[in-house]
Amino acid sequence: MAAESAILVLNAGSSSLKFQVVVPETADVLTKGLVERIGEDGSDVPDHGAAMGVVTDQLAEAGVDRTGLRAVGHRVVHGGPDFSDPVLVDDAVIADIRDLVPLAPLHNPGALAGIEAARAAFDVPQVAVFDTAFFTSLPAAASTYAIPKDVRERHRVRRYGFHGTSHRYVSRAAATFLGRPLDSFSQVVLHLGNGCSASAIAGGVAIDTSMGLTPLQGLVMGTRSGDIDPAVFSFLHSAAGLEVAEIDAMLNKRSGLKGLAGVNDFREVLSRADAGDEDAGLALDVYVHRLRHYVGAYTAVLGGLDVLTFTAGVGENAPVLRARVLQTLGRLGLSVDPGRNEAPSREARVISPDGSPVTVLVVPTNEELEIARQAAALLDGPT
Ligand code: AMP
Repeated sequence: MAAESAILVLNAGSSSLKFQVVVPETADVLTKGLVERIGEDGSDVPDHGAAMGVVTDQLAEAGVDRTGLRAVGHRVVHGGPDFSDPVLVDDAVIADIRDLVPLAPLHNPGALAGIEAARAAFDVPQVAVFDTAFFTSLPAAASTYAIPKDVRERHRVRRYGFHGTSHRYVSRAAATFLGRPLDSFSQVVLHLGNGCSASAIAGGVAIDTSMGLTPLQGLVMGTRSGDIDPAVFSFLHSAAGLEVAEIDAMLNKRSGLKGLAGVNDFREVLSRADAGDEDAGLALDVYVHRLRHYVGAYTAVLGGLDVLTFTAGVGENAPVLRARVLQTLGRLGLSVDPGRNEAPSREARVISPDGSPVTVLVVPTNEELEIARQAAALLDGPT
């Protein structure tokens, strides 16, 4: 495959840079990798410029001519309320992404550093694809928090939602797999990876999602608590003397499965629970309970459900989890065919019995491919 048809997809964090060269039309991956510990003490990669040097070296080793790339596609976590589509990066877009840093202080600075370094290294169009974009369609009833208007407006406090690139890709892949027009059915997508999120999608349009102002809200995750009473913040501040930054770090990095079971890797939680570890058993119970809440709530929000789709590391690979979530939802039309659920596969597949009122799917996600396709569609028009 000629490199001129390929797109370099970059996912830059503050200390890491994930990259993949992918051909959007065929999904062929020409090379991929991860640069870690950027800027950390003792690291030989002092900044994102140096990290981009590692990327260009690997491209050369893989025989990818970087001057022949079609574009660089950047994953940008926070696009605020206005970036509903991918955009060509220019100075104004960079200023807009910078303006959103207060809303995504852990994510957008890394993306900006990645964009600056890629602009210097690759003389091709740069496209920003926002993780929030798919959820700019949320109706006000779903995106608005019930707090004073002046505070909401002055500080841009609302539900934004994240993982949108995955939810968009998976919901469309589900329609293609089923051979049904996207606008003809309602779907809930459960993206269950280290981060976890649910979305309610009516006719291809997102109308609700579980993550909020930040990725902390919603489902139980690897290290994030998901939903809690917001009063936990002030309570822990006054009762335990914890500062805001400490509570924030606790809820984001030491909660979720890690807080409950001591480990954030789902496989480890499963094997500990199997071995009779009570904390791991409780972790699974809380995780499953929260998922059932969201499936039930979104079935109501959608006015009925046609398709439920599991994706990402846990969703794609843990049949025991899928079976537990579906176990008590029979009256909502959800059930599982054990043989289909347990059959190992890397392809999109149905796991509900034939004739089930709700079709349950497992669909592998592919955020890099989605970013490459969106970048290509922006540059060339839809393929
Ligand atoms: P992701 O963020 O999509 O890469 O997903 C990472 C999560 O998927 C981790 O918690 C893994 O433990 C989990 N995972 C990956 N493979 C499996 C598997 N075969 N069974 C259960 N969980 C898995």
